[in-house]
Amino acid sequence: MVMKYHIWTIGCQMNQADSWRAAEELDSLGWESTARPEDADLVLLNTCVVRQSAEDKACGRLGSLKPLKRHRPQAAIVVMGCLVSEDTLALERSFPFVDLFLRPSDVEGFIGFAAERWRTGPSSSPDAAQDAPVCAYVPVMEGCNNHCTYCIVRLRRGREQSRPIDDIVQEVHCLVQRGAREVTLLGQNVDAYGHDLPGQPNLAGLLRTVHEIDDLWRIRFLTSHPNDMSERIIDAVAELGNVCEHIELPVQAGHDFTLKRMGRGYTVDQYRRLLSRIRERVPGAAVATDVIVGFPGETRDHFQATYDLLAQERFDVVHVAAYSPRPGTPAARLEDDVTSPEKERRRRLVEELQRQVSSEINHRLLGSATEVLVEEKHKGRWKGRSRGNKLVFFDYDGDWRGRLAQVEITRAGPWSLLGKVIAPHPA
Ligand code: SF4
Repeated sequence: MVMKYHIWTIGCQMNQADSWRAAEELDSLGWESTARPEDADLVLLNTCVVRQSAEDKACGRLGSLKPLKRHRPQAAIVVMGCLVSEDTLALERSFPFVDLFLRPSDVEGFIGFAAERWRTGPSSSPDAAQDAPVCAYVPVMEGCNNHCTYCIVRLRRGREQSRPIDDIVQEVHCLVQRGAREVTLLGQNVDAYGHDLPGQPNLAGLLRTVHEIDDLWRIRFLTSHPNDMSERIIDAVAELGNVCEHIELPVQAGHDFTLKRMGRGYTVDQYRRLLSRIRERVPGAAVATDVIVGFPGETRDHFQATYDLLAQERFDVVHVAAYSPRPGTPAARLEDDVTSPEKERRRRLVEELQRQVSSEINHRLLGSATEVLVEEKHKGRWKGRSRGNKLVFFDYDGDWRGRLAQVEITRAGPWSLLGKVIAPHPA
């Protein structure tokens, strides 16, 4: 009998990468994936609590699984991710039907549980491994040594732990052999890669090493912290042909008062100078950022400063979120004095501004040729990304998955581009 598993994932790319690894492992043990939890022998919920809304979603999903255990008591439910802290007592009381709670990224613990519970060993041959995604995530480190006062991630994932370069290179080699053509090196604070390893390798060195891998056409990395974004990293992006001109550099706020209360460790001026340094050294670089609106104590003037920063610096992408206090964080002890309607007003203003800015930036690409790495077919059209991480769609015969295409942009919206193939890219 083929055992079935169902994996539900929310949150960051790290969670996506962990869930993909868990599925990979189960596939190699002869398990089969199912989209319906009610048909699964094993259910994994990979959770996120970076915002209250994410935590509510995870708990809601978990609660909806209670009937499953009533109907199929032999099925197992495992919860992993940032919902799970060191002390799981409260969770065990709230969700007594869960078989196992696992800390973030504990894929080994999950596979060990499955192998133990069903005494399943490798049944399918290792070379039956599935195709890798064209664009694969590769976690290179976990945890964070920064002290952002609003952040629960560092409380859940602990201090920075980097993977040895050889492990990472081997994993990338394996992914490329199985069809990956782009990798994104992942870490909560990826710029600090390696400082905890013997010999203190660094992200710039890792990029240069991974860059030597044949048939790997593109490399990205995220998420950066302004205090750890070094000249060496910027030089690597500028000099290495396969490292995409795309940087995720969260600013979080545009006023020093708020940055100080957030514990970000830099000023607006320092951030702006770093950004112009990146744009000078890497012309045309696509820069994405994150902002939190409605942080405790953020006045309308403070918010206006954030709004003005976004309007002036014109980022390619802005991920905006309304502040929600996270349990156990220093910021949760501050009075949450910005009302929900006001937080929502500020969030919408940023969204509207960014829709305008992204639209103007993308319209400048009309008529230009853009290199697109094609990932899959989506609603009948080929879908891929530019080096600047812009979503591009096109119609064309043939199988384009995993290929590069030169696409002339014919239509531009704030979030995606449409085009026509002018030539298959000479791979
Ligand atoms: S840099 Fe700050 S927000 Fe990001 S994971 Fe570290 S502590 Fe959290």
